Amino acid sequence: MDYSALQAEIRALAAERQAVILAHNYQRPEVQDVADFLGDSLGLSQRAARSSARVIVFCGVDFMAETAAILAPGRKVVIPEPRADCPMAAMVDVDGLLALKAQHPGAAVVSYVNTTAAVKALSDICCTSANAIRIVQSFPADREIIFTPDCNLGSWAAKKTGRELILWPGFCPTHDLITLEDVLKAKQEHPAAKVVIHPECRAEVSAIADAVESTSGMIRFCREDSAEEYLIGTETGMIYRLPKDIPGKRFYPVTESSVCPNMKLTTLDKVLRALRAEAPVVELPEDVRKGALRAVQRMIEVNP
Ligand code: SF4
Repeated sequence: MDYSALQAEIRALAAERQAVILAHNYQRPEVQDVADFLGDSLGLSQRAARSSARVIVFCGVDFMAETAAILAPGRKVVIPEPRADCPMAAMVDVDGLLALKAQHPGAAVVSYVNTTAAVKALSDICCTSANAIRIVQSFPADREIIFTPDCNLGSWAAKKTGRELILWPGFCPTHDLITLEDVLKAKQEHPAAKVVIHPECRAEVSAIADAVESTSGMIRFCREDSAEEYLIGTETGMIYRLPKDIPGKRFYPVTESSVCPNMKLTTLDKVLRALRAEAPVVELPEDVRKGALRAVQRMIEVNP
């Protein structure tokens, strides 16, 4: 399908409205192509904070647009598809986290950025899939740590740090569905390919990977590594991005079924509509925004 007319209209309107368009690596190809910046959730929110744009259009899921609103107060953050939520972020709630904190009164709470602003505000510090190990290591060895919401990322960080973590039983439905059998089958089809897996995948899948990396880490690893082909275990949006960033190498999904339906809810039509209306706007209560900002800033101090 030719999206060029719609993309040109969006670009012209974005310029007129002094808007910056941010798209997560898991967005539809045509949405990736219309964005000013493409990246992971924290990187994009930091871009939003640095940008002088009047309007920030965040093509991603709800917690990502919230994180942009946390880091860029006073700016209009618009999410083209407000129903695009993250099932994993929805697996941890304020009441449940308060109850777990009450059971472990001395524990620090480390929350993946894939959480709501309200959960971030209850956390001591945030982490990303790229820095989870360093964030866990930043606490004294004898301090209990509650890790929310992704038990797969938490297990990975526990294994790499040798720490016992109190894991919240959340998971990403898209990554959790990638199986060991999927990897073994894909390796048979592409025996020369190196296996690069996202740490939101299950432990047995990460265990047989050549590299376990966040989406930005995948780009760096595949660029610097000497192999010519890779099996990528994450949402298939990365299979569109990687060959554009690293021409000459070949990338295959571990399984074609790694599609996050929520990420794919954002379409070019919705981006255009959101730009025209400058809505729906992401709004956070100021006390929640400040609490969440403290946890995000603490992460950036530990891991700039
Ligand atoms: S891929 Fe997983 S973590 Fe990312 S938005 Fe979809 S459900 Fe959430």
